[in-house]
Amino acid sequence: MAGELLIKNGRVIDPANKVDKKCDVLIVDGKIANVGNIDKSGQAVIDATGKLVTPGLIDIHVHFREPGDEEEETIASGSTAAVAAGFTSVVCMPNTNPVIENETDVEYVHRKGRQTRKTHVYVMGAITKRLEGVELAEMGFMADAGAVGFTDDGRGVQDPAVMLRALKYAAMFDVVIAQHCQDESFSGNGVMNSGYYSTILGLPGIDPLAEEAMLWRDIQLIKKTKARYHAQHISTAGSVELIRAAKRDSLPITCEVTPHHLLLTEECCGEYDTNYKVNPPLRGAKDVEALKQAIAEGLIDALASDHAPHLQSEKELEFLAAPFGIASLECALALYVKALLEPGILDWPGLIALMTEKPAKIIGVDKGTLSRGKQADVTIIDPEAEYEIDVNTFRSKSRNCPYHGWKVKGRVEKTIVGGEIRFEAGD
Ligand SMILES: [Zn+2]
Ligand SMILES: [Zn+2]
Repeated sequence: MAGELLIKNGRVIDPANKVDKKCDVLIVDGKIANVGNIDKSGQAVIDATGKLVTPGLIDIHVHFREPGDEEEETIASGSTAAVAAGFTSVVCMPNTNPVIENETDVEYVHRKGRQTRKTHVYVMGAITKRLEGVELAEMGFMADAGAVGFTDDGRGVQDPAVMLRALKYAAMFDVVIAQHCQDESFSGNGVMNSGYYSTILGLPGIDPLAEEAMLWRDIQLIKKTKARYHAQHISTAGSVELIRAAKRDSLPITCEVTPHHLLLTEECCGEYDTNYKVNPPLRGAKDVEALKQAIAEGLIDALASDHAPHLQSEKELEFLAAPFGIASLECALALYVKALLEPGILDWPGLIALMTEKPAKIIGVDKGTLSRGKQADVTIIDPEAEYEIDVNTFRSKSRNCPYHGWKVKGRVEKTIVGGEIRFEAGD
């Protein structure tokens, strides 16, 4: 975008450049021109006094349901929700209908994202055709078309030989393989964490072993291939142990954590409220503690919403039949503030790093910083604003969000993408 925009007097937090100070940010022609004390007039000015000015937030795990389930979400509605939540880049998962498994599909998602002109829309391609876990999808062509990784999200790749081939193949393009770690021989038809509560509720459980067994197996495969690997939405204390050991061995592994695995436990399923039905399932308090400890230790590389919108009519089915998923994109930042900032696990720079430069590295995009010359993706946050989450105000098409009515702190004021203001509070 042509022209100049000056953001004055904010607390500028740019973890990649170790910046955390009150100063100004100058944007010229859609790029970051300068960060510092800037005395200049004649351009548009945003007064950011009392606000945080950060690199645009990045969510590497969202489901926008297009193509196929446009009544739940579209790339347009999801992108509108994303900028309202401060996200200037998102990564769509490929488990749509049809599945994103060739270059035409990847280009389709990119085109829809560009047409919407809200957030940058990236996509991961499928690892295997139709997510069946048998035949590899056209990973090379998809990488050429700009896919930022591969995953069969919604399912783990069950066959170790197929996974080994996928890792070897992805290593040739230096693109990350992301895994929804879940061994189906352990998870079966489970709908919540297995243990005391699933027994009491009479619901089939998903053992933590389902996640840990696949993660352990994959770590053996990474040792062999040295391919870049990302464990999606890890949820158990055992997974944290595995990640800790793998990182100690300097393996090329990264992982993400969702807001719900930091804020909710299996106990929440007690009323059979399907808004708490999610995959991997909500776990126990010890698991939540282990995840928070892992974040404090720096073992977690990204915070990701796993925004999974669903129709109300579907979520109104009984617990056994309802689909898995929580729609949380629009309150994600405030949820991380509640889970991580308020208890003192992270400070603002630490939180912003997990939402900007670190996830950018996982998907290999040149974003997540306010370095001079970079595309001007900037989020302005009011850290003190308190509000109540109201699903009826969501731009997302779906309302399957268990946080309705929660009192939270930290609101996005403005979202700037490529130098253009794409969202302002009150829009
Ligand atoms: Zn998943
Ligand atoms: Zn997902």
